Amino acid sequence: MDYARRRKRVLTQLAEQNLAGLLVTNHLHVRYLTGFTGEGFLLLAETPVLCTDRRYEVEAREQAPDCEVNCAENSHLSTLLTAALATGLPRLAFEPESLAFSQHQTLSEGLGERTLVPVPNLVSALRQHKEPEEVALIAQAAAIVDSVLADFLPSLTPGRSEKRLAWDFTEAILEAGAEDVGFTPIMASGPHSALPHATLTDRVLQEGDIVVVDVGAKVEGYCSDITRTLALGEPPPEFAERYRAVREAQRAAIAAAHVGKPLAELDQAARAVLTAAGMGEQFSHSLGHGVGLEVHEAPSVNRTSPAVLEVGHVVTIEPGVYFEGWGGIRLEDLFVVEESGLRQLTTAPQLPV
Ligand code: ZN
Ligand code: ZN
Repeated sequence: MDYARRRKRVLTQLAEQNLAGLLVTNHLHVRYLTGFTGEGFLLLAETPVLCTDRRYEVEAREQAPDCEVNCAENSHLSTLLTAALATGLPRLAFEPESLAFSQHQTLSEGLGERTLVPVPNLVSALRQHKEPEEVALIAQAAAIVDSVLADFLPSLTPGRSEKRLAWDFTEAILEAGAEDVGFTPIMASGPHSALPHATLTDRVLQEGDIVVVDVGAKVEGYCSDITRTLALGEPPPEFAERYRAVREAQRAAIAAAHVGKPLAELDQAARAVLTAAGMGEQFSHSLGHGVGLEVHEAPSVNRTSPAVLEVGHVVTIEPGVYFEGWGGIRLEDLFVVEESGLRQLTTAPQLPV
């Protein structure tokens, strides 16, 4: 990863606002701009200063060799304050989304006459446009999950609990080379499948259950995200019909996607299919989201998204319908946006219903 190039881009954007330094307090942004994976803050100025502690000293010097590393005895915040004072800059930018009120107070008092200027969404906006190396890691995370699902999905039979399934999936994903799961697996069975973000329970899978499997892996910090829905044995009535409608909704959104397309219109394309099938009300969440260092990050793909699809976006398309007491169906795939359109990164097969 070319961290110096990313830092330069941030500094260039700051310069447009007459600023020459940024206090980076979001740890993922610290990682994005330096490669450092430990705890700490970054003072981004002409000379970048990593403010961490002795626990991370070795990693900091190895992972961010072109940054000054400051491992003071005191808190990361006071180390950041010292580094900020040392720049001599009269105005310093900060990330309003990731600086607590109390931290802001401490910095303001310590900086005295110098001014703190909130600059929202600076690094997260850059993070939306993935570089080829980032896309390769996300694709790798997606491929690991696909390879695990090839055995895992056909093995789903009555008898194991949701928690057991999550454990088995996690073991398989680590053995397949992921550094971690992308997020706590969702293994929503039977009536639980009606909860879009179900948590794991001890419920044991039963014949006739619908199971929503929503999983991801992590490779070098980058996540993947996929959902498949299946039924054990004889599914409940309406399953095939509803499944087909969700699949059609997903296909409609994919067909509508191209560079420059408003994200809100992708959501509308999927929603129109489900509304026509009488299930508009049951599609109770947004169509998708960006994926990268976080499993949910910008851009959001929903009815009111102001943005358009741009080259380098990595987004999910995941329509779903949920019926309390009956269950739910969601299909989620992950895509990278290229000049020619969407390239699908997830390949696990959907049901041939
Ligand atoms: Zn998901
Ligand atoms: Zn998702």
